[in-house]
Amino acid sequence: MTKKIWLSSPHMGGYEMKYVREAYKTNWIAPLGPNVSGFEDDLKQYTGAGCVSALSAGTAAIHLALILLGIDEGDEVLASSFTFSATVNPIRYQKAIPILVDSEKDTWNMSPELLEQAIKDRLKKGKKPKAIIPVHLYGMPAKMPEITEIAKHYKIPVIEDAAESLGASINGKQTGTFGAMGIFSFNGNKIITTSGGGALVSNNPEYCQKATFLATQARDPAPHYQHSHIGYNYRMSNIVAGIGRGQMLVLDDRIKARRANFDFYQSELADLPVKFVKEPDGYFANRWLTTILTDSYEQREKIRLALEAANIESRPLWKPMHLQPVFKKFPAYTDGTSETLFEKGLCLPSGSNLTDEDRQRIVEVIKKQF
Ligand SMILES: *Cc1c(COP(=O)(O)O)cnc(C)c1O
Repeated sequence: MTKKIWLSSPHMGGYEMKYVREAYKTNWIAPLGPNVSGFEDDLKQYTGAGCVSALSAGTAAIHLALILLGIDEGDEVLASSFTFSATVNPIRYQKAIPILVDSEKDTWNMSPELLEQAIKDRLKKGKKPKAIIPVHLYGMPAKMPEITEIAKHYKIPVIEDAAESLGASINGKQTGTFGAMGIFSFNGNKIITTSGGGALVSNNPEYCQKATFLATQARDPAPHYQHSHIGYNYRMSNIVAGIGRGQMLVLDDRIKARRANFDFYQSELADLPVKFVKEPDGYFANRWLTTILTDSYEQREKIRLALEAANIESRPLWKPMHLQPVFKKFPAYTDGTSETLFEKGLCLPSGSNLTDEDRQRIVEVIKKQF
């Protein structure tokens, strides 16, 4: 059997073990320590965020962001429908109501028009949504200038799900830093990984302090264990943070490699009837995954199955949340955009560790399907 090519596999840089070994040597085998603080500093520096709280997962970061905005039972939260379920699940952890918003065609992310339509309609129905969660899917920034303007106009805070977009920016401003809070993920398949992990970032230091407080069981300052809030065990481990510190040293290389994958696919498949997402003016995508849009479901499946037969992993685009059995009962403002993307779109292998031979193998299989 030929070598398996994965969609997006971890890519260690060689610097990680130094930090992990140091944690071991100094006995900081705990959910606190120099690597946790160091990783927070690195992320702060890189993103330009005002503060960072390192957490056990991106999902935990979204959950804490909702709690910090006071989202509670029955509250409405607007979220991108075209996303991974982890964007929306934490809304339900709080027993709040997800209001799902479809994508626009330029970036495939939350449509500002549908967002405003949804807000107006919810207001008419007598309830003001308490938060907006846009997602920068596949590392392409959502239309944040438009979304933040709408959010400001209606005075609704924004939580950016930047789980897939570390390093992406609009006019030099990093994704994750536009809203009240942003979140990142360092799961195994993301652009850099700590095996599992996440972070909450904000320009308001109070949010990070509170996130860290809640993530460490909400212990009030007292010699005994004193609690006036419900706490969580959501802090990042000092071992995991060591991997993160090593990965931060190669983040720019990883972005370069992922963008090079995109350029390769785009030029190799230029003559075929497949579409790529372009960066709007001023937008910089990290190209976490290269995605293509084919002409039909049948064509998409033909490519996917041929890749599978050649031991190459690919994956249909996210199935929109408003079509998911667990979320379809919730209100949704849609125009068919994300349904079409789901039907005809495919994620191609995009790891920063793909070799030239790997990439050649992939495009050869794809070209044969036309
Ligand atoms: C990965 C991901 C998350 C969740 O992050 P975890 O660290 O796996 O909990 C949330 N949203 C999106 C869009 C993701 O891709």
